[in-house]
Amino acid sequence: MNGEEGQNLKRVPDFLVVGGGINGLLISRNLLTLGASVLLIDQSEVAREASWAGGGIVSPLYPWRYSPAVTALASWAQGYYPHLVLQLLAETGIDAEFEQSGLLMLDAPDQSEAVSWATSEGKAMEVWGTAQICDAERNLASGFSDGLWMPHLGHVRNPRLCKALLASLEQSPSFSLLTHTRVTGFEEIDSRIVKAYANTAGSAEEQVLRAGAFILTAGAWTQQLLGPLNVESGVAPVKGQMLQYRLPKPLIDSMVLYHGKYLIPRRDGHLLVGSTLEYTDFDKSNTEQGRKMLQNAAVGMLPDLSRLDPIRQWSGLRPGREGGVPMIGLVEPRENLFVNAGQFRNGLVLAPASAHLLSELIMGEQPSIDPKPYRPTLDPRELMASTRASVF
Ligand SMILES: Cc1cc2nc3c(=O)[nH]c(=O)nc-3n(C[C@H](O)[C@H](O)[C@H](O)COP(=O)(O)OP(=O)(O)OC[C@H]3O[C@@H](n4cnc5c(N)ncnc54)[C@H](O)[C@@H]3O)c2cc1C
Repeated sequence: MNGEEGQNLKRVPDFLVVGGGINGLLISRNLLTLGASVLLIDQSEVAREASWAGGGIVSPLYPWRYSPAVTALASWAQGYYPHLVLQLLAETGIDAEFEQSGLLMLDAPDQSEAVSWATSEGKAMEVWGTAQICDAERNLASGFSDGLWMPHLGHVRNPRLCKALLASLEQSPSFSLLTHTRVTGFEEIDSRIVKAYANTAGSAEEQVLRAGAFILTAGAWTQQLLGPLNVESGVAPVKGQMLQYRLPKPLIDSMVLYHGKYLIPRRDGHLLVGSTLEYTDFDKSNTEQGRKMLQNAAVGMLPDLSRLDPIRQWSGLRPGREGGVPMIGLVEPRENLFVNAGQFRNGLVLAPASAHLLSELIMGEQPSIDPKPYRPTLDPRELMASTRASVF
């Protein structure tokens, strides 16, 4: 196949979405709901990258350390998640298992900042002493002197969430999918993208794909697509490794966070341990050092784990960006190129709000969240000024 005849569709779609992670899946869902047709392309399988690898905590880890731009998206999405998961269960029979388990943060160093943030944002947060920690989670190591308890926080099984989203998309006759197909570039005429070029694995021929508009949700790879268009996104890969244990009996009920490492108890007895933060470009390998670091952190919180070995280790590439503030909106001066990327450590929690905002911007509706901090053309100095360096 070559040339425009190569378009794997009966007609030119309204939108071509590049990248089938959580962000690509959700914007496709929103656009289909609005009556548009969508072609979703992924260079691999759908949701096999960061959106599969993540822990699925529906909150930033230390939410008070982030800018209001991150909090605005997180708060919107936290309200929406239970509804989304139920809706997908009804549509597809796949349960993404949203669990409102609560999150217990042990010995958080900036407790007074946390409490004033929670008060001003209206979030439930309790300060616990040793006795309350021991009462709530009896298997934790002793010696934690204080904790911050956020009862409303939950987690979702992100691989299942993405599977459910794809199953739901595939029910629509206006949806098409191309996997193992990498978008390699765009052709631009008079501020409009007119074509995308793509290569399918195993084929030497280049495909030419047309669409009414183009949306980049390529996660950590976003700059590879924007660079040739002379757009600097500041999005870069940041590796995260995770471990999984299978527990003979549950050891904790809530998520637990200590010194940046966390435990997530799944409904079926699995326990996830996350995560490393590594600046190794696009290298996604698991390392012995990463395994040891996570294992030590896990045993430090839950001593019973010293009798078990992790059953699995994996890693993923987060779409890192200054302050974890994503870029969402039109890539000006182009009239039909949009981007939604750079959610960094919080892409799962922020995704529903990011997609909602982008759909509003595409449709020219009054946005429900102020879009300014996410503007793709925001001067990087303005972005830095509006974020807090401590999240790195
Ligand atoms: C270890 C780890 C733990 C995490 N834990 C959490 C958590 O608990 N909570 C949370 O909110 N977030 C978490 N995150 C972050 C979250 O997973 C990411 O921010 C989010 O998944 C990013 O989604 P995405 O759709 O932008 O990117 P991705 O899921 O990476 O999807 C991008 C897709 O684009 C495709 N692609 C790229 N380039 C091209 C191209 N040229 N052509 C075609 N396709 C292309 C890729 O194949 C990929 O499928 C974690 C991440 C990691 C790695």
